[in-house]
Amino acid sequence: MDLNDKIKFFINRGFFYESQSIYGSRSGFYDYGSLGTLLKRRFENLWRIYFEKLFDNIYEIQPSEIMHKNTFIASRHLELFNDPIVECKNGHRFRADKLIEEKLNIRAESLTIEEMNKIFDEERVVCPECGSKLSHVKLFNLMFPIYVGPVYDLFLILEEIKRKYGFLVDLLIKKYRKINEKELNYIIKNYLKNKKLYSINLNNEKYIFDENKEIIIKIKDNEYYLYSENIEIKEEDINYLEILNNAEEIKIDFNINELYSLIKSYIELKNNEMFLRPETAQGPYVNFPNEIIINRYRLPLGLYVIGKAFRNEISPRNVLLRMREFTQAELQIFFDYYNNPFENEFEFYKDKYINVLLVKDRDKKLPYVEKSLEEIYNETKIDKFYLYFLYKVYEFYINILKVPKERIRFYQLSDNEKSFYNMYHFDIEIYLDEIGWTEVGGIHFRVLKFNRDIINKVDEEIRKDVENLFIGDEIYVGYDLWNHFILSKDRRFILTRPNGSKFIPVELELSFGVDRNIFSLLLINYDGKILKLPDYLSPIQIAIFPLLENNENMVKVAKQIYNKLRKKFDVYYDESGRIGIRYKRQDEIGTYYCITVDDQTLKDNTVTIRFRDTKEQIRVNINDLEKFFEERFDIWKIL
Ligand SMILES: [Zn+2]
Repeated sequence: MDLNDKIKFFINRGFFYESQSIYGSRSGFYDYGSLGTLLKRRFENLWRIYFEKLFDNIYEIQPSEIMHKNTFIASRHLELFNDPIVECKNGHRFRADKLIEEKLNIRAESLTIEEMNKIFDEERVVCPECGSKLSHVKLFNLMFPIYVGPVYDLFLILEEIKRKYGFLVDLLIKKYRKINEKELNYIIKNYLKNKKLYSINLNNEKYIFDENKEIIIKIKDNEYYLYSENIEIKEEDINYLEILNNAEEIKIDFNINELYSLIKSYIELKNNEMFLRPETAQGPYVNFPNEIIINRYRLPLGLYVIGKAFRNEISPRNVLLRMREFTQAELQIFFDYYNNPFENEFEFYKDKYINVLLVKDRDKKLPYVEKSLEEIYNETKIDKFYLYFLYKVYEFYINILKVPKERIRFYQLSDNEKSFYNMYHFDIEIYLDEIGWTEVGGIHFRVLKFNRDIINKVDEEIRKDVENLFIGDEIYVGYDLWNHFILSKDRRFILTRPNGSKFIPVELELSFGVDRNIFSLLLINYDGKILKLPDYLSPIQIAIFPLLENNENMVKVAKQIYNKLRKKFDVYYDESGRIGIRYKRQDEIGTYYCITVDDQTLKDNTVTIRFRDTKEQIRVNINDLEKFFEERFDIWKIL
């Protein structure tokens, strides 16, 4: 079964749909259907319970999805959260790095803009739609701006400025070059002589042009300037200057106050711009001052968000893998770099093995190497606490999500590939037969190191505070907490140690794409017949059938069981069709347990429970069903 067949199947069964297809879908937006929503809810609950219990003092918060411009000035998203795009002459647009990755089969994360431009210049990659040459790379910010309050629409303002004054701007911003009178005469004779000409006077400058404005003559202080593209001018002996005097003057209704007020509303609007968050992470960072006080300055502190994030992806693809609106589950862990509370945990786990692809092992051409935490530590000197968290994430995939061991790896990013603010960055990757290794999450140690030079680089108002952070000649601070402190000057970002010294905590981020994980789970567990999710992840927990749809007694008992169990579980009642077909329908969507009411039920009050994968059937007394399933679905047993 190929990827498209599987996707068709999931759409037909109600896991997800293209959003609003009745009006023609826009790519990058998907709706979860009833089954998909149940699966997503189970995934999120498992994630929530597992990660919330990593240590004492972890809390879920629900920050706003629309966020302040300053938040993204501090986080530098406005400046740096760009994708490189390329364009062909027919207007097809693509994300440059992904296109290179696909066509040349290399990782493009570490390529510079110049290196990418070279690839397009040399036409090693051309437009996949039409085969034409691609432009140089342009940067495109991925955030969705939002205009809040009773504001005049930005685009309406721009339209009005353009409609009323656009042609003036057009005249003013063009690049002119000076020409002599003989050249001018040549231009007039060859290009303007038989055309209707117009003129405008602006600030002691006179502009003369034809209706297409392809050639514009600017006269200033009796000197001539020309705007034209690709015209080679020769000298001309005959005088045609008279013609210019006959140009029809356009009297413009130039209302400077109106223009100013339009520009003012435009600037106001841009200043009050807010943004849909491009990651959930900023919520915990800006709420750190509130939560650290509420939780009585206890560290380590964990704050997590499960919620929507929005990115204006240039080329959304692979259904739930790259969407424009998506769900993240991100845990931010804050602690004092110099009093690392997790250092000792490593000792308990150092003999545990995980699949990793370290930068140094990449040339071995293996998908991963199985290594113990201790081996990784000896080879890389990566902080022990970080390796401990790698293992905790690994456990979540192996023990909870039941992802087969050979399908999961941690991919270490090199210094060129990772962001400058990540001291360590490993991607969590799952192997999908249809797509290959797929990023489903990442573990980021977001920390900056400064020496004393930084003191004089910050605003005078907070210089003393920054100086106080130094004990020796260097400090480590969390990237985001530092940036929010510098911009907001809110001193609650600075904490005090018992001995009186000051610090800003560092940040470890465990970041997961919920939709990517769900899509991966669907792909690796569906074999064309059965969706082999663990019983506690399956959307429908229990299906209930009467063996024969026209046997009144069987139907009655089955409905009684259904009505009882549906108060506690997500159950499905089905009485139509042959029993084999009903089992098959449930197998396909992953239902692990099917209860059937048959002849014997009517004699001894027992039903069969059929197990999805083994097809094994056992008989259980109706009165024991609730207890049986409570035990099966007890999440604490699973964890
Ligand atoms: Zn094209």
